Amino acid sequence: MALCRVSVLGLRAARGGSQIRQRLRLRSTEKKLAGDFLHQQSLFSHQTFRNAGGPAGAPGPGTNHSLYAAIVGVSALGAGIYVYRTVQRDKARFCERTSYLSSRRETDLKEVKVTETVDEKKAVKEEVKTTGIVDDKTAPQTVESALPEQLPSHVPFLLIGGGTASFAAARSIRARDPGARVLIVSDESELPYMRPPLSKELWFSEDAHVTETLRFKQWNGKERSIFFQPPSFYVPPEQLMSVENGGVSVLTGKKVVHMDVRENKVKLDDGTQISYEKCLIATGGIPRSLPAIERAGEEVTKRTTLFRRISDFRSLEEISSSVGSITIIGGGFLGSELACALGRKGRQTGLEVIQMFPESGNMGKVLPEYLSHWTTEKVGREGVNVLLDAVVKSVNYQNGKLHIHLKDGRQVQTDHIVAAVGLEPNTELAKSAGLELDGDFGGYRVNAELQARNNVWVAGDAACFYDIKLGRRRVEHHDHAVVSGRLVGENMTGAAKPYWHQSMFWSDLGPEVGYEAIGIVDSALPTVGVFAKATEKDTPKRAAEESGTGIRSESEVTETGQVDDVKPPASSLDFAPSQQGDNYGKGVVFYLRDNVVVGIVLWNIFNRMPIARKIIKDGEQHSDLNEVAKLFNIHEE
Ligand SMILES: Cc1cc2nc3c(=O)[nH]c(=O)nc-3n(C[C@H](O)[C@H](O)[C@H](O)COP(=O)(O)OP(=O)(O)OC[C@H]3O[C@@H](n4cnc5c(N)ncnc54)[C@H](O)[C@@H]3O)c2cc1C
Repeated sequence: MALCRVSVLGLRAARGGSQIRQRLRLRSTEKKLAGDFLHQQSLFSHQTFRNAGGPAGAPGPGTNHSLYAAIVGVSALGAGIYVYRTVQRDKARFCERTSYLSSRRETDLKEVKVTETVDEKKAVKEEVKTTGIVDDKTAPQTVESALPEQLPSHVPFLLIGGGTASFAAARSIRARDPGARVLIVSDESELPYMRPPLSKELWFSEDAHVTETLRFKQWNGKERSIFFQPPSFYVPPEQLMSVENGGVSVLTGKKVVHMDVRENKVKLDDGTQISYEKCLIATGGIPRSLPAIERAGEEVTKRTTLFRRISDFRSLEEISSSVGSITIIGGGFLGSELACALGRKGRQTGLEVIQMFPESGNMGKVLPEYLSHWTTEKVGREGVNVLLDAVVKSVNYQNGKLHIHLKDGRQVQTDHIVAAVGLEPNTELAKSAGLELDGDFGGYRVNAELQARNNVWVAGDAACFYDIKLGRRRVEHHDHAVVSGRLVGENMTGAAKPYWHQSMFWSDLGPEVGYEAIGIVDSALPTVGVFAKATEKDTPKRAAEESGTGIRSESEVTETGQVDDVKPPASSLDFAPSQQGDNYGKGVVFYLRDNVVVGIVLWNIFNRMPIARKIIKDGEQHSDLNEVAKLFNIHEE
């Protein structure tokens, strides 16, 4: 407000100044008029006396006395009339002038007032822009006036977050209501895109301009963009409410900072207010960092990447071409995928790639121990130096290098760190909206219909939902974002459906090894694995070639999820040994809770997810899981 007040005071001073000047001008006009009058009077007297003094040839005193008196009389009369007329004229002019001046003053004041209001608004707008905070006392008027001219102030469907879940919701809203008007607000500068290729295919691209094009070759060789749709798909936000058949608009680079669920409205970081009829919160998550990195100070944090967005891919791509060594902290999907991608690059460029994590093998929190160890060997073969059981104690920057000190005394020197140590669901809006968060899993707590409050739903990574089959959960995967976003879209248009479709997820360690999973896959649960020899067909690359899709969940989108008859195929009763030595070429891993299958990993087995889904949905106890494994035809050559 300081800025605003200063400008208002300035205007008042200017206004005061002009009033004073006007008053002075008025006085000088009065003086001038009076002065003119006096001047005319003195002129007249002067002329009279000159005439009275008589020039040469003037009539003499005796003879012309009466004539002289008559002339003087007439002159005096004429002068009197002249003076009278002049005074009257001047008086009229004076009145006219003063009334003009006073009317002028009123107009001036009006003009000043209008300018002042506009300037005040400008000042408030500037302030909101720089601080991102709207003074609540002035908010209603200023926010209203700060609204960019054509932006809709009210939309039927408002989706917060421009990620996968929001995009899926937009698509499903439009599928059920073809005229729907949907506004997505995203704090990223890009249109909605898929994240999985950022740690996979994009790194294997041969295009030197891949960081700009963001196009990649799927494992099946087909090229595509990471963006769900080209810009032409979207309606400019200012046309959303007027365009004939509605559409989807994306407001990029804007963050929702406040949510009023009672009034059905949100406030953006530029102060704009938008009200809605139905709202989706799909704000995803923020990558976690390590306390040891946070404590270490700027020299360390500026040499650390937390990987989530397109901008992170771009910067890590550049860094990996300019430094000698990169260390990835974290052994989960993201860390392992990036390790494989960078390891492969390093084999060509000489970049040293180190991966470290506290578990005894890659993806140790998900895969049973033997499979996790096998994966670590595979990652090692990609050229990555994997450090197991590595707990980071501290990090410092010295002599141009980062020094990572482990709890067991080991030390690693490196140029750059990628911290892939998990995600914090983005629940920044919980406070203003008064929404409940889940104490165990994090995220917004929603019911089986993914609803948090009346007219408010949550989907994707940020939702802690009630799965009617497996209980309360939160899932951080692409396909879940698609499935939950789609369900919310249906429910926002009146379907009132519960969450029933188990989403899947996948991870690929390059084009040759990958897996798909469903349900609760936690290595702390008892597991049963059945393996067979893999053939050339059993790779993510071949799976993509056969299905014609690169992003696995898209094949999920087309299938119905209905598998009515799940019976072991008669031809596969000959059961091969469950594994060949330590070669886990392909197989099925069942995760059990109370002897019931609650999760399944399909290791190098692709496009059989509907069968896995059916097994989990049935929730039956199985006495022989080898028999159940036959359902996946794992012994097919
Ligand atoms: C590199 C990478 C690779 C992955 N690979 C796989 C994989 O192989 N398989 C798999 O199953 N999953 C994978 N995932 C996970 C998957 O991408 C996520 O689960 C999915 O993106 C979640 O979608 P979402 O819409 O919930 O959140 P997001 O995609 O994160 O979208 C949320 C968006 O909301 C924006 N936002 C947040 N707050 C606000 C606000 N207040 N106002 C406006 N905008 C806001 C965020 O900036 C973000 O753009 C991967 C993730 C990453 C990062």
